Amino acid sequence: MKETLAVIGDVQTAEGEMQPTEAADVHIITSGGVRIPADFSVLASASPVLESIIDRPRKHRSSDKSIPILGVPCDAVSVFVQFLYSSKCSEEQMEKYGIHLLALSHVYLVPQLKQRCIKGLAERVTVENVVDVLQLARLCDAPDLYLRCVKLLSSNLKAVEQTEGWKFLQNHDPWLELDILQFMDEAELRKKRNRKHREEQSLYLQLSEAMDCLEHICTEGCTSVGPCDMVPGKNKGPCSKFSTCQGLQLLIKHFATCKRRVNGGCLRCKRMWQLLRLHSSICEQPDECKVPLCRQFKLKVQQEKKGADARWKLLVRKVISAKALSSLTLPKRKREEEPIMNPSHPGMRTFRL
Ligand SMILES: [Zn+2]
Ligand SMILES: [Zn+2]
Ligand SMILES: [Zn+2]
Repeated sequence: MKETLAVIGDVQTAEGEMQPTEAADVHIITSGGVRIPADFSVLASASPVLESIIDRPRKHRSSDKSIPILGVPCDAVSVFVQFLYSSKCSEEQMEKYGIHLLALSHVYLVPQLKQRCIKGLAERVTVENVVDVLQLARLCDAPDLYLRCVKLLSSNLKAVEQTEGWKFLQNHDPWLELDILQFMDEAELRKKRNRKHREEQSLYLQLSEAMDCLEHICTEGCTSVGPCDMVPGKNKGPCSKFSTCQGLQLLIKHFATCKRRVNGGCLRCKRMWQLLRLHSSICEQPDECKVPLCRQFKLKVQQEKKGADARWKLLVRKVISAKALSSLTLPKRKREEEPIMNPSHPGMRTFRL
């Protein structure tokens, strides 16, 4: 390709028109009957399709090596040939002939130009031309551009419905119209599903963060709550997840002092109870965990044998995966060397409150 690029200077005038060169051994015929001279080697190295077309008459020993490229404006063909030489095309040319160039690059297998057109057209899709670009994107197997068009279309349907393109589509390509409408329906559904998924994800993330904070409070201690075997006030400043951590500390304080308790139907105590149980379900420190009731919950699960119900297991799995996810994106909290621990946790008495 390098040596063929040098030819450009000879073939092009300032206006970018192709001029006959001595090296020209092929002619491209446009729909206006214009003959554009070109070099076989340049065309062949840029487009395997053109190569095979040019090779064909040779086999039959014909001297007339001309390739008709019809159905697009003459100037678009010029720009196309120019691109085969220079791998370049100006913004102005893209503006004028982007649609034709996409078709040509697809038919003649010039991926570099095709990518350029996909990008160029995606930037230029408007309510006016969206239907044309959409149809072309489908024909030329350009899914990104197709998607871009459908998105623009679905957010401007009222305006697009007024265009000639849309009216033509309704009369001539009802399947595509159906495709688009179906896509819009599905997009609406997808949006709803995504929203629900995001809400769920954020819930699991919150729980996973609460689990981190719980461990952190029980091992390192935080501003107002910490393990009773640690010197209070060691960590004075707020920690990195302070809003969650503070809420949890308040909950722990409540849990330790509440008179109604879980069995008395206290909702806050129940919540704390669930968090402790959740911790125990995901805890990977079999014997030395400092989180209250962790061991007791584990023993209970072992004794019950049948284990937790499916919904609880699902919750545990989701929190574990949210935890894994957040540990990928957040710097892991530095864990202190585990101090010698009291093996049993008589409830909340382990806490310095
Ligand atoms: Zn904290
Ligand atoms: Zn309570
Ligand atoms: Zn534990």
